[in-house]
Amino acid sequence: MTIEDKTALTSFLNLAGDYIKGGYKVTPPPDIQEQYQEGLSSLPLAYQIDEDDEEAGESLSAEAGFATGSTSGSNHSFIPSSIEDIAAAINTCKACGLAATRKNAVPGEGVKNPLVMVIGEGPGADEDSLGRPFVGKAGQLLDRMLAAISLYRDKNCFITNTVKCRPPENRNPEPGEMAACYPFLEQQILLLKPSLILCVGRVAAQDLLKTGTGINALRGKFIDLKIGEIIIPVMPTFHPSALLWDSSLKSYAWDDLRLFRTRLASISEEYASSIGKDGKN
Ligand code: SF4
Repeated sequence: MTIEDKTALTSFLNLAGDYIKGGYKVTPPPDIQEQYQEGLSSLPLAYQIDEDDEEAGESLSAEAGFATGSTSGSNHSFIPSSIEDIAAAINTCKACGLAATRKNAVPGEGVKNPLVMVIGEGPGADEDSLGRPFVGKAGQLLDRMLAAISLYRDKNCFITNTVKCRPPENRNPEPGEMAACYPFLEQQILLLKPSLILCVGRVAAQDLLKTGTGINALRGKFIDLKIGEIIIPVMPTFHPSALLWDSSLKSYAWDDLRLFRTRLASISEEYASSIGKDGKN
């Protein structure tokens, strides 16, 4: 099976699961519906959020203390002065249904002046129990992947997710939940101003970049994310959970990480010299 076949199958199963669980209210274009029915497509999820979902997301965002109607970063009523302010708001947030089932919100963790932000999809069971991002098996693999290119959450990274509370049974976050939570992510990006963002997994990449394109087409490329006045290059790659599920994807992820390392070294002399010190050229 080729990587395209595997990605197509994964996307097909994801979308089928979304439909079955009622997770996404999707209206695929007619050609995509046709391919979906035939089971042939990688289903780029060119979904449209129903008006109801958008309205729900906006009213919930307002409830969380944010002005709504913009994801440009310039229209929020809540202007946090620190990453701790954002974490405090997240920890008490009840702006979407995920608040009712979480044990702990997971704002994210890392240094306050990160070179890199790593953004995943949402907390799992281990993260929900501890209130920390990426601490389960996938998180441990992520730490090893990052260490391979001299990135560490206690040294030069900040790690977070698109939604800060665990979706029950590890389902994908719903569009309304991601819309409600997005202002937190946007404010974290604006405060931390990373040089680059590594976005792991289809769901996070599609939410952050506001695209329906599949992860196989997005991965390994830098795509500019514009928030307000700032532009930050984002590289999507596979989620570490996908690598645990299918180890043949690891070589593609490593290709992505090497490109990411090269770009980062061209931006930061300190990082470039740290690569030399770590012997990871
Ligand atoms: Fe609030 Fe985000 Fe948690 Fe929803 S997922 S309750 S918007 S912090």
